[in-house]
Amino acid sequence: AKSAGGNRFEYADEEADARAITRHGLTTALPAALERGEFFIEYQPLVHLGDGSVHGAEALVRWCHPQHGVLGPDRFIPLAENTGLIVPLGRWVLQEAVRQARFWQDEAPGGHPATGPLRINVNLSPTQLHHPGLVAETVDVLERSGLEPGALCLEVTESALIGADDDLLKPLRQLAEMGVDIALDDFGTGYSNLANLRRLPVSVLKLDRSFTQGMQQHPADPVDIKIVEGIVQLAHSLELAVTVEGVETGAQAQQLRALGCDTAQGWYYARPGAPDRIRSLALVDAV
Ligand code: C2E
Ligand code: CA
Ligand code: CA
Ligand code: CA
Repeated sequence: AKSAGGNRFEYADEEADARAITRHGLTTALPAALERGEFFIEYQPLVHLGDGSVHGAEALVRWCHPQHGVLGPDRFIPLAENTGLIVPLGRWVLQEAVRQARFWQDEAPGGHPATGPLRINVNLSPTQLHHPGLVAETVDVLERSGLEPGALCLEVTESALIGADDDLLKPLRQLAEMGVDIALDDFGTGYSNLANLRRLPVSVLKLDRSFTQGMQQHPADPVDIKIVEGIVQLAHSLELAVTVEGVETGAQAQQLRALGCDTAQGWYYARPGAPDRIRSLALVDAV
């Protein structure tokens, strides 16, 4: 849509072009970036709402781009999804995060007296779910690291599982049978049929940040309170644990604890950071 509109349109077009070039540039740079080791992982603690003890950590990938600096996953995960590079990238994240979890456990074998050894959460994208090697590769990564399957939680978004047929659920079932936890990420945003939950091999619901935001108002949004109350009741009746994300204030934490949520994650506790930070949080905690 060039011309006619004059400068404004041309400017908009140039901007769109620049974005497209960046997207294109980032996309083509992805494979070499993986080979050169430009990706790294930050870890964000998951804490028990009851006593604030560290339950584990979620692995969140970043790209240290030689020209653009550190890029968040929202900038490159969709590109990696489109090109299929998410499969080797996701494999690297899993391997690295599991290795790190095993390292934490070796440093503090018993973990916290109340919560046991640190656990690790890793995000799985839809393409990885469809990849036939998923189960074998996960088994391999666990065996090589020596991490017990029960210390790993794979996070799958609710939207990735909407309308999922048995072919898609089979690998998740196999992993769940081995003892790997499966969490339904961004829960509450995907309009999935709640009755459908029984069919899914999940053991954790990760309530989307939008609900946590409703708890920030004073008083908290009464509709959000009702919804969270309902979800927690349903989850617990199905023997699922409830994690809340995006907890930024003590008031939110208090409200969500009162509503019966089990674990929480958010800036109120800690931002994503270097692996040492998790270790020091967990060890301080264990003393
Ligand atoms: P997610 O799985 O929902 O991860 C939570 C996001 O919320 C993270 O953003 C985290 O940094 C951010 N966050 C944590 N606490 C707070 C808080 O208190 N307030 C606010 N406003 N935000 C908070 P991040 O690291 O930018 O990751 C974005 C998304 O990228 C993730 O959303 C996940 O879907 C995806 N992602 C990250 N790492 C991986 C990966 O290794 N593989 C795949 N497939 N996806 C990944
Ligand atoms: Ca996640
Ligand atoms: Ca999430
Ligand atoms: Ca999210």
